[in-house]
Amino acid sequence: MTTTRPIPVPTPETQPFWKAARDGYLLLQRCASCKRFVFYPRLVCPHCLGEELAWTRCSGHATVYSFTRVERAPAAFKQEAPYVVALVDLAEGVRMLTRIKTETPEAVHIGMRVRAEFEPVSDTLSLPVFVPVIGSNAKSRAGI
Ligand SMILES: [Zn+2]
Repeated sequence: MTTTRPIPVPTPETQPFWKAARDGYLLLQRCASCKRFVFYPRLVCPHCLGEELAWTRCSGHATVYSFTRVERAPAAFKQEAPYVVALVDLAEGVRMLTRIKTETPEAVHIGMRVRAEFEPVSDTLSLPVFVPVIGSNAKSRAGI
């Protein structure tokens, strides 16, 4: 488990998110005032400025909003290319920048159903990535 790529450094605000990722699930903040989910972790709700954000376990289900397939990566990511970088919309209503892990990157498409998995990148840190939900590849891409 060695990597040349830069990895996140948890802060007091993000530590619960990273601990949950290490334990294999997604934990997002939810505003006690407006009930909306918040990502990335922060101290104040961006929707209503509420200051009570409770950590809430999430489903890990999402759909691909947009994506790109990286063939020629920057030096720090070169050994990982090709890979798919995507924006996914979580079922809880937040959008997350991530990667789609798949043996068939050519099959990734907008609207594809994906679910969270967690990729260890150090002894203490795992990154959320998303994998296609079985059956999601059956959707025709001809109409896109
Ligand atoms: Zn709020």
